[in-house]
Amino acid sequence: MRLALLLAAVIGVATPHPPHPPRIPRIPRTAPRDPSHAPVGSKAKRLVIVDAGHGGPDNGMHGPIGGKFTILEKDITLAVSQRLARTLEERGMDVVMTRTTDTLIALSDRGRIANRRKGDLFISIHVNAANPGWKDPGGARGFETYFLAEAKTEDAKRVAQMENDVVRFETSNGPAPSDDALGFILNDMAQNEHLRESSDLAELIQERLRTIHPGPSRGVKQAGFRVLVTAYMPAVLVEIGFGTNPTEAAYINSRAGQEKISNAVADAAVAYLARYERRRGPADATTTLARKP
Ligand SMILES: [Zn+2]
Repeated sequence: MRLALLLAAVIGVATPHPPHPPRIPRIPRTAPRDPSHAPVGSKAKRLVIVDAGHGGPDNGMHGPIGGKFTILEKDITLAVSQRLARTLEERGMDVVMTRTTDTLIALSDRGRIANRRKGDLFISIHVNAANPGWKDPGGARGFETYFLAEAKTEDAKRVAQMENDVVRFETSNGPAPSDDALGFILNDMAQNEHLRESSDLAELIQERLRTIHPGPSRGVKQAGFRVLVTAYMPAVLVEIGFGTNPTEAAYINSRAGQEKISNAVADAAVAYLARYERRRGPADATTTLARKP
């Protein structure tokens, strides 16, 4: 039968049963989002992924140095992330948390969750720890926000190493990516397109935290955080304070401190999304014009 059809086609004879053209479903050019993001009024709701650092057997840092109490990073990040999620929801955002209990989620899975849910933003919450080799480790204070790019300073490398170290708790499904692989991914276009946006978001978070935080702003920084590598969206990691400093440990462990920090980060996320919406409109037209030969 096949041969007959082929022959008929070659010699140009109409076949008795011409094959139907394949049915191709009509797909709109811009596929609608997940139904949970159905437009509210004319605008779709924005989705923020909130990532509480560490969890389960991975406590993260513990502190403070010489303190009369002990905090674990994984508890602080979860408490702040839960508050942040609630605050964002109150302000009309959709929120997905990568973890809501004391459990270990692999760094690469955190990004995958964000991608699967089609997040607009990824915010990872962490607590900093001083390097014991510093002159006065207990004295180090302040907050800093990172976006994913090649580390520029030794201190940024130190923080990234500390936060990436969790891979040793992960029951591996194959070897963890080497630093070479990380460097390769850092150069990947999919991430680079979000660099500028991630840096803008980091800047806004630092601005807002500066208005409430008792410690100094340590600025916007960049480094190769594995947790940010797999999230294909503007993504930042916030070190909300030094758990090694007794005063700062008490602040980030207090209800009032956690409330202020989560409000400040939520404000920044809302401001960023508003700015992003504005930029998407006229800015796109400008880009098109600028690209004309
Ligand atoms: Zn951490």
